[in-house]
Amino acid sequence: MPEPPIRPADANEAESVHFIEQIIQDDLASGKHASIHTRFPPEPNGYLHIGHAKAICLSFGIAEKYDGQVNLRFDDTNPEKESQEYVDAIRRDVSWLGYQWNGGEYFTSDYFEQLHGFAVQLIEHGHAYVDHQSPEEIAAGKGTPTKAGEDSPFRNRPTEENLQLFSEMRAGLHPDGHCVLRAKIDMAHPNMHMRDPVIYRIKRAHHHRTGDDWCIYPMYDFAHGQSDSIEGITHSLCTLEFEVHRPLYDWFIRTLGIFPSRQIEFARLNLDHTVMSKRKLLRLVEEGVVEGWDDPRMPTISGLRRRGFTPESIRTFCERVGIAKRENVIDFSLLEWALREHLNRVAPRAMAVLDPIKLVILNYPEGQSEMLPSENNPEDPSAGTREMPFSKVLYIEREDFKEEANKKWFRLAPGKTVRLKSAYIVRYLDHIKGPNGQVEEVHVEYFPDSKSGSDTSGIKAKGTLHWVNVETAEEAEVRLYDRLFSDPAPDGHADRDFMDFLNPDSLQVRSRCMVEPSLALARPGVPHQFTRLGYFTLDEKRTKDTGHMVWNRAVTLKDGWKGQG
Ligand code: ATP
Ligand code: MG
Repeated sequence: MPEPPIRPADANEAESVHFIEQIIQDDLASGKHASIHTRFPPEPNGYLHIGHAKAICLSFGIAEKYDGQVNLRFDDTNPEKESQEYVDAIRRDVSWLGYQWNGGEYFTSDYFEQLHGFAVQLIEHGHAYVDHQSPEEIAAGKGTPTKAGEDSPFRNRPTEENLQLFSEMRAGLHPDGHCVLRAKIDMAHPNMHMRDPVIYRIKRAHHHRTGDDWCIYPMYDFAHGQSDSIEGITHSLCTLEFEVHRPLYDWFIRTLGIFPSRQIEFARLNLDHTVMSKRKLLRLVEEGVVEGWDDPRMPTISGLRRRGFTPESIRTFCERVGIAKRENVIDFSLLEWALREHLNRVAPRAMAVLDPIKLVILNYPEGQSEMLPSENNPEDPSAGTREMPFSKVLYIEREDFKEEANKKWFRLAPGKTVRLKSAYIVRYLDHIKGPNGQVEEVHVEYFPDSKSGSDTSGIKAKGTLHWVNVETAEEAEVRLYDRLFSDPAPDGHADRDFMDFLNPDSLQVRSRCMVEPSLALARPGVPHQFTRLGYFTLDEKRTKDTGHMVWNRAVTLKDGWKGQG
C-alpha cells in the first residue's frame, strides 16, 4: 500500500502513550483512582460525525485499554433541538464503530431533579441568586475580557427570597425568559465564564423524555460536570473549546462538595473539504443539498457507513490522527487511505463495467461458454476463487478503447493486444460505430492457449482489462462521489456562506452499468473491490427503493484527487 498522505503520528508513536493516557497511568499508579471511568456525552440534536468518532475512539478506547468503564450519556438539556430519532442514530453509530457502553446508558435529563437540588443547595449557601435583568442587561453587565463586569442589582437578594423565586420559576409562575438563576461567583474574574454564569432558565419546551414536567432547564455548564460527578466519571475528556469552562466545572464540583471528576481537553478533529458542526450539517439536510444525514457525501458516521467505510478504517483513521492539544486540519485523503488499507486486505474482488461497450471475440465459438476461476482476494488466499462466466460477447469499459493511440497506450486500440483479467489475451481486429459516431463494438480475436493460469502462448500483453460477460451480466446503478465542498475550508471565509462552496460534481450517477452475476448475492455492509475501479458497497436503501442494485463507490483504488481549492 502507498504511504498515507500525512502521518501526524509517526511509526514509533504507536508504542508510546499520548498525554491523556499518561495522566491516566499516573493516576492509576499513584492510587488516585483504582479504576478508570470515562463517558461519551453527545447531545441528541443531530447525527454523529467523524469528529465525534475521534472522541468516541478516545473515551471508549481508554476504557478498553485500562480495563475501565465507559458511559454513554445523552446530554439532553436543550429540549427544542433534541429528539428520539437522534438518540437511536447515536446508539446505532457507536455500536457500529464496535464499542459498548459497559458503564451504562444515561440521560442528563435523568438528573433534572438532582441538578435542581444542587441549585437549591447553592442558593442556600449564598452561591446563587435569581436575576430579573433582561438578557441584554446581563450581557452588558458581564464586562469585557479587559474590563470587569458589574454586579446585578439583584445580586444581593436574601437567600429566602431567592429560594422563593426559584421555586416559583419551577412552578411555572413566571413567563419564559422573565428571570434566570445565576451562580454568584465573581463579576471581576479574569475568566468571563466565572462572572456569575446563568445556570437555569425558564423555557416552556416539550422535552423528548421528560415531556412537560419541567419549565426550567439547567444550562450546559451547570449540567455537565455534575452529571460526570454523579456517574463517578474519573476522566471527562472533551474538546479544547471547553478549556475556558474548566474553572467553572471545578468550581461547581468544589462548591457542591461532590465527586471530583476531572475534565481534560484535547484538540478537536477538523477535516478539510467538509463542515463538521451539526448546525451546518443540519442545514445541508434541511435545504435538501444532500439526501439526508446519511447521504454518502456527509462526514457523518451513518453517511460514511452508507458510502462503504468500515468501522476498522474509521478507528485506524482516529488512531493515525492521534490525540494532542494543538488544533490542526486533517486531509480527507487520510480517511480514504485508512479505508483502502483495510479493504485491500478484506474486500472480495469483482468485476463491473461502468460505461459498457461490447467486445466481440470473432474466433470464439458461437453458443459456447466456459467458467473461468478468479481469485476472490489475492491478499487473502483463504478467500478462495469464484467461477466467472465467459463467452463470445463481453462488456468492456468505453474508456478502455481508443480509435487512435500511441505507444504508451496499453489498453485496446488498433494494433494492440491486451489480457482480459482472469481470462485470455485478445488482439484488436476492428470496430463498429453507431449512427452518432460513438464506438459500439470492438472486435478482437483471442488466443485459446493464453488462458490465465495455464498460458503457453508466449504472447505478451502489457495491459489487463476488466470485463463482464454480456449474457449473464446484471444491470446496476453506480454512484460515484467526490468531495462535498470544492473549497478546503468552506466555513473558513468570514464574508461568505459555506454553502457557496458546494462542489457541483460531488455526485455522479451512472445508470445501466453491468456487473458480474455473483454480485447479485452481495450483502450491504460488505464492500467489494471492483477491479481497477475502486471499492464499492451496495446501497441498501436505494436498492430497496428502486428494485435494482445500486452501488456506492466508497473510494477509488489510488489517491487520484486533484484539489481544486
Ligand atoms: P458540533 O460542534 O458538531 O455541533 P458538539 O460538540 O455540539 O458538536 P456534542 O454532541 O456536544 O456535539 O459532542 C459530543 C462530544 O463529542 C463532545 O465531548 C465533543 O467535545 C466531542 N466532539 C464534537 N465534535 C468533535 C470533533 N470535531 N472532534 C473531536 N471531538 C468532538
Ligand atoms: Mg456540544
